[in-house]
Amino acid sequence: MNTPTLGIIGGGQLGSLLADAAKKIDIQTVILSDDPDAPGKHFATKFIFGQYDDDTTINNFINAVDLVTYEFENIPFAILKKINEKKQVLPKPEINRLIQNRETEKKFLNDNNITTTKYVTVKNEKDLSENVDLLPGLLKTTTLGYDGKGQYKLHTEDDITNEIDFTKEYILEKLINLKKEISVVITRYDQNSYEIYDPIENVHEEQILKYSTIPSDISDSIRIKSIEWAKHVVEKLDYIGTLCVEFFIDTDDNLYANEIAPRVHNSGHLTMNSHNISQFENHIRAVCGLEKIETKKLYNAKMINLIGDEITPYRNKIFKDNEFFYDYLKTEIKQKRKMGHLTIIEK
Ligand code: ADP
Ligand code: MG
Repeated sequence: MNTPTLGIIGGGQLGSLLADAAKKIDIQTVILSDDPDAPGKHFATKFIFGQYDDDTTINNFINAVDLVTYEFENIPFAILKKINEKKQVLPKPEINRLIQNRETEKKFLNDNNITTTKYVTVKNEKDLSENVDLLPGLLKTTTLGYDGKGQYKLHTEDDITNEIDFTKEYILEKLINLKKEISVVITRYDQNSYEIYDPIENVHEEQILKYSTIPSDISDSIRIKSIEWAKHVVEKLDYIGTLCVEFFIDTDDNLYANEIAPRVHNSGHLTMNSHNISQFENHIRAVCGLEKIETKKLYNAKMINLIGDEITPYRNKIFKDNEFFYDYLKTEIKQKRKMGHLTIIEK
């Protein structure tokens, strides 16, 4: 069988790592990015630069690939749908539409008996002032937020200032007394056919992921429940590919699903070195319809995100044989920008 050429929308670190994993299993990739300097151009077989809403760009992309996946969820539904009419898009565009909006995402979880934090939708200042009983809380834009962007922490009513941009829609979420955060990365190949990585323990700093570790230090009941919920999510969505569910555990040991990423996830980067098959390879295998290989943990591991200028000393460092450094080759170092990561395995 001829292997398909996989189109990837988005050329950031996730698209790059997907393309790199594809190369190792002889899958050709075409990355489409609206940034001419996107890191993906160093990793993909072919790189197409252009705007996502430009017909010529999209047609060039469609003609260059056999099927399409994406590295980020903020792609307009209309564009994914249009591509899907010509070349199959996986995960399905409807799934992405559901998850890219925090309101429909949280409703989906609750409708499927998966607990989330308490929240209300906020369309204007009145909605906010009528729900101050949820404070302290976080006001999050319903769309386009990532790495804590588009969020306001509101401790009391006094924090409701005119800094809040009410041209946008939000959800107001009750702040949880966090004990721990974990994530479950799962790749679904078909009905009741998946590979699941054990829960990964995550530490955020300033709402950006900083450290991910396996194994996570959690009770058996939390472990089982988080995996059950992740399976339930992919089955209900009829999902194909890798997906991540982020969870909160509060100080009373309650589990809440925080959000779903319909894609590979930063917390799963350590799987490149800790497992025989990474989250990236599993994603590519699943969407391309390749054989599912039993995924096994080889080592315990810890991943450290290198944010902003933290990357600089690592660029000339000599590493031990249990340390794996990844430089995303972004042209510019910016504060709060994920520049690379280091994974240390326990041999
Ligand atoms: P993003 O889309 O930016 O990743 P998240 O909703 O995952 O947004 O929030 C980022 C981080 O902020 C979380 O991983 C967590 O550390 C913190 N956070 C978000 N919501 C809450 C909450 N309701 N209670 C406590 N901490 C929260
Ligand atoms: Mg998050």
